[in-house]
Amino acid sequence: MPDCLFCKIASHEIPVKAVHEDEHSLAFPDIHPQAPTHWLLIPKRHFANVAEAPANILGHLLKEAATLAERELPNGFRLVVNTGDDGGQTVHHLHIHILGGRPMHWPPG
Ligand code: AMP
Ligand code: ZN
Repeated sequence: MPDCLFCKIASHEIPVKAVHEDEHSLAFPDIHPQAPTHWLLIPKRHFANVAEAPANILGHLLKEAATLAERELPNGFRLVVNTGDDGGQTVHHLHIHILGGRPMHWPPG
């Protein structure tokens, strides 16, 4: 997707400090962190949101997010997938927020 910010990050057209990269996914720090650790994990292929992506991609991403989070945040963490306008999605390329380093509140805002 030519005008997609996260496609440009996935292809390294826009450089980021990757915290993980494999054939299918890339993780990097969120530019506006909401917690001491706030990373985004994205698929390299463009999917607009969680409803658009196939099960094998979702499975890979969720497993990878959990592996990264468990390693960095042994005290616990939160994975978030904002979807659509009411879900608060602002970048329309699927991404999992990995948040931790402080206690998380519930319900979320
Ligand atoms: P969402 O609101 O769930 O779509 O999340 C989009 C996230 O992308 C927000 O938390 C932004 O802070 C983050 N973001 C936007 N642009 C960049 C960027 N260039 N590098 C890293 N994170 C970004
Ligand atoms: Zn994209």
